[in-house]
Amino acid sequence: MNQLIELKNLLSAFPRPRVVITTHHKPDADALGSSLGLLHFLIQLGVPAHVVSPTDYGDFLKWMPGEKEVVNFEKEKEKATALVAAADLIFCLDFNTLSRINLLGDMVANAKAKKILIDHHLEPEGFDDFRLWTTNASSTSELIFWMIELFNEVEKVNESIASCLYAGIMTDTASFKHNSTKPTTHRVAAKLLEKGAKPNRIHEAIYDNYSENRMRFIGYCLNEKMQILHDYRTALILVTAEELERFQIITGDTEGLVNYGLSITGIELSILVVDRTVARKMSFRSKSKFPANAFARKHFNGGGHFNAAGGESADDLQTIEKKLKHLLPEYIAYLN
Ligand code: 5GP
Ligand code: MN
Repeated sequence: MNQLIELKNLLSAFPRPRVVITTHHKPDADALGSSLGLLHFLIQLGVPAHVVSPTDYGDFLKWMPGEKEVVNFEKEKEKATALVAAADLIFCLDFNTLSRINLLGDMVANAKAKKILIDHHLEPEGFDDFRLWTTNASSTSELIFWMIELFNEVEKVNESIASCLYAGIMTDTASFKHNSTKPTTHRVAAKLLEKGAKPNRIHEAIYDNYSENRMRFIGYCLNEKMQILHDYRTALILVTAEELERFQIITGDTEGLVNYGLSITGIELSILVVDRTVARKMSFRSKSKFPANAFARKHFNGGGHFNAAGGESADDLQTIEKKLKHLLPEYIAYLN
């Protein structure tokens, strides 16, 4: 409660605050949905704001109301830099280490603005002045709704806010299936439906919106690229830069690919490694005991949630494959 008063005080400390909302690079539906949900809520409060994304994002998010106004730092460096430098308040959503916002990180760190962190990932780094943070929320979008409820402003939730937040909750829980789906998650989702979110339309816009290439690429990866390491109950897919080019893979197209391996009976860990040329991006998903975040943090400069984590490597794919196969025996106790 004290926290809430502190946040309210922060918001009212500036009569006409200049507000920037930012989120992690390659934003997913929770990152962008929470950002745009908050944007529309602030507009309802009479506080204009700008959403600044460190990078581009998948086409399947471009239906979100307000998306066209998002400033992509990679494309509009000067505008993004000026907005961050001039801001009184910077909301940092769905990330808690500045490395997750790439080159924007230093700018946010050096900005005179007060930084408000709203996030549900483990171990915040501590660059924030204020935080609404818990790992008990399914998503940052759910946290934005909690904040609106705590402010006693639920009547201001309109269809735009509801749709953006519903999208974030739906995707971060993998359609209400992850263990992070609590009774409260469904209560929040129910309220968002009452406020006009259309579950079928949102689901369709995100999940039934693949290009033909993307679908064929998934088929190719599952049929020809997936290795099953039976001794370690692990599924592994390594995608080369050449394959990305051959299938004309664009931002967002590899999202969700790592989950397929986990659908196999007995598989406890699924790993996807994608050669993004500048670096190899890694995704880890596990079913129960395997600590995906600790593994990513210790060996691949990453982190995340217990069962869903990511990381990066400067090594080539072959070296990564060798390293993984060398490491897995150490983790056998978590994989049986
Ligand atoms: P994904 O595999 O979908 O890229 O990421 C899954 C989760 O892992 C994300 O929600 C995020 O929490 C975390 N994650 C992904 N990549 C990184 C990374 O490079 N560093 C950290 N700290 N976390 C990551
Ligand atoms: Mn999230």
